Amino acid sequence: MVRNQYDVIVVGGGIAGCFAAATAAVEGIDVVQLERKPREQGGFIACGDAIKSPRDPGHYPGPIDMAAIADDESVLVDNNIDQIEYWDEELDVRKVLPYETGSNVVDRYEFGQRLLEQAADRGVEQHYDTVVNDVTQNGRVTGVEAVRDGEAVTYECDVLIDTAGAQSILQDMVDFDGLDTPGQPTFEVPHYTHFGSAYREIIETEEPVEYHNAIVGKPLEEMGYIWYFPRTPTQINVGLGFQMNKSPIPLADRLRRDIENRPEYQGATVAERFGKTNKLGAAIALRRPLDSMVAPGYLAAGGAAGTTHPITGKGIRGAAYSGYSAGRAAAEAVEDGDVSEAGLWEHNRWLFREHGEAAKLASWDAYNVAASSIEVNLLRALTALLPEKELREIVGTSTEVDSLKSKLLVGTGVLRNFVSEYRKHTFDALDVSTGELLEAIRTVRKTRNYVSAYEHHYESYPEERSTFEGWLAERNHIDLNFYESLGLPSSEHKY
Ligand SMILES: Cc1cc2nc3c(=O)[nH]c(=O)nc-3n(C[C@H](O)[C@H](O)[C@H](O)COP(=O)(O)OP(=O)(O)OC[C@H]3O[C@@H](n4cnc5c(N)ncnc54)[C@H](O)[C@@H]3O)c2cc1C
Repeated sequence: MVRNQYDVIVVGGGIAGCFAAATAAVEGIDVVQLERKPREQGGFIACGDAIKSPRDPGHYPGPIDMAAIADDESVLVDNNIDQIEYWDEELDVRKVLPYETGSNVVDRYEFGQRLLEQAADRGVEQHYDTVVNDVTQNGRVTGVEAVRDGEAVTYECDVLIDTAGAQSILQDMVDFDGLDTPGQPTFEVPHYTHFGSAYREIIETEEPVEYHNAIVGKPLEEMGYIWYFPRTPTQINVGLGFQMNKSPIPLADRLRRDIENRPEYQGATVAERFGKTNKLGAAIALRRPLDSMVAPGYLAAGGAAGTTHPITGKGIRGAAYSGYSAGRAAAEAVEDGDVSEAGLWEHNRWLFREHGEAAKLASWDAYNVAASSIEVNLLRALTALLPEKELREIVGTSTEVDSLKSKLLVGTGVLRNFVSEYRKHTFDALDVSTGELLEAIRTVRKTRNYVSAYEHHYESYPEERSTFEGWLAERNHIDLNFYESLGLPSSEHKY
């Protein structure tokens, strides 16, 4: 059996993996990146392809040159997106929200290829056709077992960075309880109900679609959603997903039904890639970022660490900054010769405290919890009636909401809409009573208060490992109060 020794092993050739590997490599660390796919299929990943502000270095920190990638015409296939549209066609509702300037739809494959090239240019050794099938440990994580080009290979390392995506298989392989930690391990493997299942096709239409400057979302049964994200006016990423705490939706069949019923998709064909129709599905994290993303000799980032928006499922940006953070923390820990939980804690500290975006995602997860607690027809009625400002905050397109004013708006805005144009459609079609609607409004208002409570608590996320348990106990206390306020029995608690 071939043996290999590296300072850092990165498992996964996706976004988080490339950001992590490149960041550690430029620090002079010996890094290998393992990817199960062949080189030419690297970056070919199920995605809606919508990306936020790719040229903003605050969103994409580290040595990967995102501006150069954004300048590549094969990557940014649509520079034209300036709005998000929410459609509920049954109710005749169409809401238009402005989308952040500089946001785009990418060709995810070309984007992934450029990331892999840049990681290699920064000094990362890349092994493709390499499937990791076990993790080795001895008080700390020490490496992985893999099959490379059909041959068994052992890799040893100081730090393993898990960027194997949502529902990372590595997390089933590590015995976290068997690692040397001062108390309980801080790393907790997420439950399957914290994920969604999503599927997409790239279709080509005969005529340009009218919504070529928008990313469009529509509700589906059981808190599912469907999207149309135009890459070009005639090439559309169409997809759908559902959260695994609800009944499964047969994704490919349901999508076909939707496509076949849309006049603008008559005569459309599915695009090809690698000689096959371009159809892909995958899991998607719909939870708050993991409370701790570290264990002795181990760090998680990207989908594997839950850095995805818990309502929209967008995770490109989270994968990038958390990958950067993991690469940076791993390099520092290797330099310091301390790869314990405490030695790797910088990853958690930076994400929750200094950069802070993980704290925001964790706080917004309250909206996901609340939405799951509301019956789907009521949720649709509420979304149809919610003021656009409120919707904008929930889908995370605006961070500048005056919270007090907005709290008042939730109630008055919904009621104003209630007596206006949507009223008849919404209530007749969905069979929702005024009493139920008022209760749902109260739920949104309560949730907003809890979002603020979480935000406040995450501001004191522990600087060091030693104070984590106390902080976590208080956070869990907020969870319990929140569940109680929603009237959720313990069997329906998300965490
Ligand atoms: C259908 C769908 C639509 C989405 N739409 C959007 C969107 O429009 N915008 C957005 O921002 N986000 C979207 N997301 C989320 C986004 O795609 C993810 O958050 C992001 O890809 C996570 O990146 P990652 O690097 O963590 O993981 P991934 O991109 O999943 O990469 C993981 C890599 O690890 C490799 N790997 C896994 N296991 C092993 C193993 N055992 N051995 C070796 N290699 C392994 C995989 O082959 C893969 O290359 C969507 C997700 C899905 C599923």
